[in-house]
Amino acid sequence: MYFLSDVEHKYLLHQLLPTAREVGVSKELRGWSWFQPPLKPYYGDVKLPMYAVSSKYCPTGRDVYLRNVENVRPKLGPKVALGKMFHGVVSDCLQAFLQRKSLDFETWWLKIRWDEIPEKPENVKEPSREVWKFVSKLCEARLAEVSSRQPYASEYDVIASALPFLVEHRISGELLGLSGILSLDCYDYLHAIMFDLKVNDERREWYRLSPVGYALVFESVHETPVDICCVVYLNVRKGKVSVQKDLFFADDELRQWWIEERDKKLEIVAERRDPGKPERSQCLESCMFFDACYG
Ligand code: SF4
Repeated sequence: MYFLSDVEHKYLLHQLLPTAREVGVSKELRGWSWFQPPLKPYYGDVKLPMYAVSSKYCPTGRDVYLRNVENVRPKLGPKVALGKMFHGVVSDCLQAFLQRKSLDFETWWLKIRWDEIPEKPENVKEPSREVWKFVSKLCEARLAEVSSRQPYASEYDVIASALPFLVEHRISGELLGLSGILSLDCYDYLHAIMFDLKVNDERREWYRLSPVGYALVFESVHETPVDICCVVYLNVRKGKVSVQKDLFFADDELRQWWIEERDKKLEIVAERRDPGKPERSQCLESCMFFDACYG
């Protein structure tokens, strides 16, 4: 899932990294400059989750107002359910390999708390099984490959080299005006790539905001530069798993865009200001707050 193909690896080595080294990132846009503008949050008392800052499903940000000021509960649909399921499958399957736990899909399935998944189990079981099989096969192949190249390496070393991932890593975003209990999808610590998983086919430019936000948070806490980010688009169609990657340089422009979004959303909540609705045609009926806005 978070493994780069040969072509992606070439793109990383010969295009993205040379560009990142040549162009660089302005020092005031590194996460470790959190104590000064423009990264210093203006509204110090408000803390938001990453999805509130990085989501642009609602063009005006009214979803953030409804959820965080009016305390309206979002109406979760089947797309959200599939997203939750696939995130759970990918992270739990990877964690099992990382922690050398023996865990099969059926055992994992029995532990799901269905009150948190707004969908019937039978509608998501088979696609989830396919993703589990896919992730397991990738991990087994990578472990076998690294082990065959380094026959004297310990099991721990083989895992650390073959699966160099911090998965669902807990980190505080408080220095940047975010929640103190963020959880990032995956950080590859050997290649310094911040990954974000999307259960969707449709590419959107603003999906880049979330991994860029996590890169900034990581820099603010660990003071380590994170120049490369990747959105992983995961889907299952007719029983076949599809994975597409958007690998990119987290440059100044994207960092500034994320800061603008953060400042706009923090202001909405701190000032308790309803930003209003956009043109009706821009509101999808699948929006989690559609009933609250038009019901
Ligand atoms: S219905 Fe429209 S205005 Fe309301 S939250 Fe959704 S996108 Fe925003």
